[in-house]
Amino acid sequence: MILPKVREIKEALVSLFSAPYTTKFPAQPDTESKRYRGMPRYDKSFCVGCGACAQVCPSQAIKMSDDPMRKVRTLQVDYGSCIQCGQCQEKCITVKGIANTNFYSLAVSDVEAPEVFETIEKELVLCEGCGEIIACRDHLRWVNLRLGAKAYAHPNFLLLTQAEFADVNPSKPKESIRREDQIMTVCAKCRQRVVTADEF
Ligand code: SF4
Ligand code: SF4
Repeated sequence: MILPKVREIKEALVSLFSAPYTTKFPAQPDTESKRYRGMPRYDKSFCVGCGACAQVCPSQAIKMSDDPMRKVRTLQVDYGSCIQCGQCQEKCITVKGIANTNFYSLAVSDVEAPEVFETIEKELVLCEGCGEIIACRDHLRWVNLRLGAKAYAHPNFLLLTQAEFADVNPSKPKESIRREDQIMTVCAKCRQRVVTADEF
């Protein structure tokens, strides 16, 4: 008969009389470590809706969808697919648009439950010529600020700044846009048409 080792008996006795090593989660909430890199959350005041986080997410946990009718871009993180890698935070163009929190608990019985998703909506700017999506308004504002005075060389940014101070009525859709439509918020394709229409 093989006798158990003394070390194992000692270990068993110590375990018997000490507090449990494991937590009582989910009966009792666990204490989240301050430095734990958990689920990411958007910050509405810093996210500009550029979509870079969705592009870099290795598990494709972030879905980006545009609704031109409502002029809304939606970015949604599915925590069920998120691997908490931190790429979205690292590659965010504004640095603070999305940040990993120390929250990690995803003990839910319904995978479609609201707490499984983190969603943010941003206003879209559409081309007044063809209706194509140009970018989110906050993204254009962010570029505008970075360009400084140089931004005034572009009619889109000029109109964006003007809209901050006064009501600017959008132009009515036209069958064709011409050179006289220079001061309109238009996409790159329509801008090319505006600039070259009279030349050819
Ligand atoms: S600003 Fe940052 S968080 Fe917002 S869409 Fe762009 S990369 Fe994502
Ligand atoms: S933490 Fe990683 S997996 Fe999760 S949403 Fe961000 S990039 Fe995607």
